[in-house]
Amino acid sequence: MSTTPTRQDFDQYMAPNYSPQPVIPVHGEGSRLWDQQGHEYIDFAGGIAVNALGHCHPVLVDALKTQGETLWHLSNVFTNEPALKLAKSLVERTFADKVFLCSSGGEANEAALKLARRYAVEHHGEHKDKIISFAKSFHGRTFFTVSVGGQPKYSQGFGPVPGGILHADYNDLDSVRQLMGDDTCAIMVEPMQGEGGLIPADPEFLQGLRTLCDEHNALLVFDEVQTGVGRTGKLYAYEHYGVTPDILTSAKALGGGFPVGAMLATDDVAKSLAIGTHGSTYGGNPLASAVALAALEFIDTPDVLAGVNKRHDLLRGHLERINEKHGVFSDIRGLGLLMGAQMSDAFEGRAKEILPLAIEEGAMALIAGPNVLRLAPSLVMPEADIEEGMARLERAIERLVAKG
Ligand SMILES: *Cc1c(COP(=O)(O)O)cnc(C)c1O
Repeated sequence: MSTTPTRQDFDQYMAPNYSPQPVIPVHGEGSRLWDQQGHEYIDFAGGIAVNALGHCHPVLVDALKTQGETLWHLSNVFTNEPALKLAKSLVERTFADKVFLCSSGGEANEAALKLARRYAVEHHGEHKDKIISFAKSFHGRTFFTVSVGGQPKYSQGFGPVPGGILHADYNDLDSVRQLMGDDTCAIMVEPMQGEGGLIPADPEFLQGLRTLCDEHNALLVFDEVQTGVGRTGKLYAYEHYGVTPDILTSAKALGGGFPVGAMLATDDVAKSLAIGTHGSTYGGNPLASAVALAALEFIDTPDVLAGVNKRHDLLRGHLERINEKHGVFSDIRGLGLLMGAQMSDAFEGRAKEILPLAIEEGAMALIAGPNVLRLAPSLVMPEADIEEGMARLERAIERLVAKG
């Protein structure tokens, strides 16, 4: 007889690197989830900006089932049809000419950083190895990507960090200019900082980075792991800015909940990822590729993308209305369905307290740092769920205010 797992089993059997909520969701449909006790939740978290079509979307379920009965895995000794279709589709929809497939955002960024270093060595020499990124940025949890990321707490305590990494300040071109030189290999940047607090780039900032990279023969890498695949109302956020990177990374929404990542590059740059330089056992796995292709084709349509902007306006309206009543936010910002509400001075550092209260009220949300409430729901969230979910979130915020 098998017994039902409990939250205590987490503490007993799993590595203690997470601190999950007390409830265990067991079933999801669209933007609603149910836990072991049958309590219902409306989902504004979307698996941290992953479940772009909600839970168990029929189009993705169908792609997974069909591929699941056809072919699961080969290896990179062979190519496969779903991977080829996904790569072609990404190329046709973006600036890129070539795609490297992998299984996560961190892995896509790892590939981007390694490619940038290779390209620099091949075209300019060993000295050109400096990677510039930004304070508070987040690029993944591999050792290279935490080191490039701008949150030292994630790379401290693991021994010597990889060298040649410099951090400038986000939206501050002068701070980048001071670090740029002949030895600059690449700049890695999120078009909107996600984990760092939902901070959109100023257009002049990204345009300035492009110019600096061109002047110094450095590559511009956009980490669109969180902002990509319709999340901001365009397929990729770079389209908002009219700035084209040399390398772009994608994951999260790309698989709609199935683990997949992609690194996109121009022909000239991709050439440096020559045979044998890099690889991944699961990269381009048929199951992942089939689901990602279905997600990409479903999301990259005028209807779905326009719907993202419409839902942004609805959510913003609710957040503003809640704020007029309760004064909890000092700023409401973001693009598309990646939105942040910065806590006002009176509630400084207390965004985290909203989450368990919201769960008790039947809503799931996120934070981005201690001071920002983050929403990253399904791109096709039904309007009725937005209304009901916001009513529940408002009750959670009322309880935060009542705590004083
Ligand atoms: C989530 C995230 C990553 C890491 O992706 P994983 O799939 O967790 O490895 C990298 N960059 C950004 C901007 C992210 O939001």
